[in-house]
Amino acid sequence: MHLRIAHIYPAQMNIYGDRGNIIVLRQRSLWRGIDVDVDAIHPGATVDWARYDLCFFGGGQDSGQALIADDFVVRQGSELRAALADGMVMLAICGGYQLLGTYFKTHAGQTLPGIGALDVHTIGGTQRSIGNIAVTVDVPIAQRSCIGFENHSGQTFLGSGARPLGTVIAGSGNNGSDKTEGAQVHNTFGCYMHGSFLPKNPLFADFLLSRALERRYGHAELPPLDDRAEGVAQRVMLDRVR
Ligand code: GLN
Repeated sequence: MHLRIAHIYPAQMNIYGDRGNIIVLRQRSLWRGIDVDVDAIHPGATVDWARYDLCFFGGGQDSGQALIADDFVVRQGSELRAALADGMVMLAICGGYQLLGTYFKTHAGQTLPGIGALDVHTIGGTQRSIGNIAVTVDVPIAQRSCIGFENHSGQTFLGSGARPLGTVIAGSGNNGSDKTEGAQVHNTFGCYMHGSFLPKNPLFADFLLSRALERRYGHAELPPLDDRAEGVAQRVMLDRVR
């Protein structure tokens, strides 16, 4: 089996170790004998989105987002939206998540349009939400308490077409007031959890890989890995932030 992963704007959108998500997706595949290609998608690239199984879009400062927002919406928007509607798996963190929504109005007053793959919008605030975060994710995995690290001024609000990725146990999440964190539709998942997210929550990585394999091959076989160390680390962090 073989998976093709797109890593979009790795130079401009990569903070708090977001690249670790790619390392985990690749390594957990290789350990199961699944080959992986990871293509970096840079601004200006012409992309055949139909060939990809999974896309990762990391976080970035407002300034990094401003650099790529036009390219993202104008050059990639419609074909990427079509691929997501067709079930391509997407994980987007923080700044990437914000640009999957309808728009992000920055703290400085600039409005960056998003591609509207998720029915969410984001307003930059005066206060930053910074710190460890724990979330009960609403996806079918055995360990649904996930941990991460958030740092954002944007406050994200869900429209009627969006379902939260999960419920905040500790931390701010989408907006610090409604206890929601992230958003999901079909195989598209966005959230504020840096950390990096997937190294800290390896079963979420397997969930994404399963969805990608099911779409490509009609079935997914992911034998369990020895995640005891990750499990201990996760429990320690959950206890600490609760
Ligand atoms: N620039 C965005 C904000 O502060 C996203 C930050 C990030 O990706 N960590 O809201």
